[in-house]
Amino acid sequence: MLPYGRQDIQKEDIDSVISVLESDYLTQGPIVPKFEEAICEYAGASFGVTANSATSCLHIACMALDLSKGDILWTSPITFVASSNCALYCDATVDFVDIDPVSFNICPIELKNKLEKASLSGELPKILVAVHMAGQSPEMKEIFNLSKEYGFKIIEDASHAIGGSYLNSKIGNCRFSDVTIFSFHPVKIITTLEGGIALTNCKDLASKMSILRTHGVTRDHNMMENHSHGDWYYEQIDLGYNYRMTDLQAALGISQLTRIDSYIEKRHEIASIYNNELSLVPLDIPIQHPDTYSSFHLYIIQLDLSKLNKSHQEIFQLLRKNGLGVNLHYIPVHLHPYYQKLGFKKGDFPKSEFYYKRSISIPIFPRMSHDDINFVISTLKEVIN
Ligand SMILES: *Cc1c(COP(=O)(O)O)cnc(C)c1O
Repeated sequence: MLPYGRQDIQKEDIDSVISVLESDYLTQGPIVPKFEEAICEYAGASFGVTANSATSCLHIACMALDLSKGDILWTSPITFVASSNCALYCDATVDFVDIDPVSFNICPIELKNKLEKASLSGELPKILVAVHMAGQSPEMKEIFNLSKEYGFKIIEDASHAIGGSYLNSKIGNCRFSDVTIFSFHPVKIITTLEGGIALTNCKDLASKMSILRTHGVTRDHNMMENHSHGDWYYEQIDLGYNYRMTDLQAALGISQLTRIDSYIEKRHEIASIYNNELSLVPLDIPIQHPDTYSSFHLYIIQLDLSKLNKSHQEIFQLLRKNGLGVNLHYIPVHLHPYYQKLGFKKGDFPKSEFYYKRSISIPIFPRMSHDDINFVISTLKEVIN
């Protein structure tokens, strides 16, 4: 089965991991800060705090932004559950803003309308998590302007989007947000196995997040409440977690990062072949906003069901049966049983639900051969037409 995404591990990646295994430090050595610096430099951010997953990064970012009971976090329903679970970890409330059906990202007009209503009812969000669906940036400038008007903070969940750009600058520079998060899970653009990073230009946020990922403990004398008892001394000043990334993982990340631009180029090459070859099949190809340069983490087709005599589910199953490891990103978060128990109902976010009824993620990853690409195209044509 040809998967929808796959990591690329080369000899130099393996060598760099082995050299850490043979060194003095496996976990908290010099490599994690090196990786953080390398990502900051690549993405154009001032500070980077790695963690054992992007999910952990979302959690500590929410904590550092003081999200707590009584606060509200908004995000898109078309995302992985981690984008909204982070609010629930902080005892805050979640609500969603429906998507723009063309970009699959939060719709700035829906957002503006919902903010106007929330402002009247006193239910404004404290944080908006702006998801970069499939690797394409949301309209961050519009969202940023609304954040100034209505006073909310912005976390970019760019788990899909390292290597992409918005308004000609790299995702991760936090020009329009407080924190930007990347995931390094193996299906994402580059991998550290599990792992993630929270980027910010605010020193205070970076310092809070780095303490929260290490039990709430500090060794920085300027942050301590008491005088040092001696060289061994550290203080717990907050309740944090053990969310650290290891040196082993960071070494893999540094090695992977050297190939990121070639990965993104290859993903664009595949996407443009799909765009051309699928134009006559009754489906919608993913349209790109002119301000964005996607990382193309995912290539999502949308079936034109009115022109087809098979259902979405039938086509999905036939594709799998014929060897295409297609997937569906995502089940709208508010439709999950856990979220339904929080009070969300079918019909709450109709554009997201319509998206869900006809979308399919088809294979796209840097190591795809031309035979693989042709296999995807011919199988799609055969099954759909
Ligand atoms: C993968 C993903 C996450 C979680 O990333 P992990 O590193 O697996 O915790 C969060 N949000 C989105 C949009 C993702 O795709």
